[in-house]
Amino acid sequence: MPHRPEHDATRQAWRASILTLFPEMFPGPLGLSLAGQALDAGLWSLATHQIREHGLGRHRAVDDTPAGGGAGMVMRADVVGAAVDSARSQDGADLPLIYFSPRGTPLTQSLAHELAEGPGVMLLAGRFEGLDQRVIEARGMREISIGDYILSGGELAAMVLLDACIRLLPGVVGSADSLTHESFETGLLEHALYTKPREWEGRSIPEVLLSGDHKKIAAWQETDSLRITSERRPDLLEARKRR
Ligand code: SAH
Repeated sequence: MPHRPEHDATRQAWRASILTLFPEMFPGPLGLSLAGQALDAGLWSLATHQIREHGLGRHRAVDDTPAGGGAGMVMRADVVGAAVDSARSQDGADLPLIYFSPRGTPLTQSLAHELAEGPGVMLLAGRFEGLDQRVIEARGMREISIGDYILSGGELAAMVLLDACIRLLPGVVGSADSLTHESFETGLLEHALYTKPREWEGRSIPEVLLSGDHKKIAAWQETDSLRITSERRPDLLEARKRR
């Protein structure tokens, strides 16, 4: 279990720096609810950078046709390189630079923990067919995917990663306890949840959950977690055995 220090007002805000062709998409959903309150409270900060400011010519072009031919357009290495350098000079070169790509390492809860424990992230949202390979290598980008499907741009992927990290920052979620019992934190999926009323449409709550016996309740939850995980995600059980 990762170390989770209580919120400390002297701690520097976790920084999110975003390079995109659509800065007006941010903070978007991250301006509401938990993440929005944390943004207002200064627990994290947000800076957006318009890649097009580094575009070329009268039309501020950021893309061009793919070398070797083929469909679509590719974001230029020179334009993106200049945008990254400018963002680094403003927001700090200490932030890990992430490029969202279906080819990247899958985003997981443990990666969210790793990033939340650092100073923040610099995120590059791709558009078109993607990015010239040379700038990925030259600027040392870490490629991350949010799943095996294709989005039309990296902005939603950036929001997904940010949301997953922000809720782990000290002071964002009221009780640290509500984080440690969640799906993936234990290597298992979460057990079933119930609340009032006791009876609903002829369905009742498992008796043990109303017993007040915390040991029995914990045992029921563990069994239910194992059942759900083995039914839905046997791969997680295999991975857990190897941990
Ligand atoms: N031609 C690319 C897909 C480009 S989609 C390919 O076949 O791999 C355009 C942009 O959307 C990408 O550059 C990336 O930044 C973003 N994107 C699309 N799907 C994504 C995913 N599953 N995870 C993270 N980013 C994604």
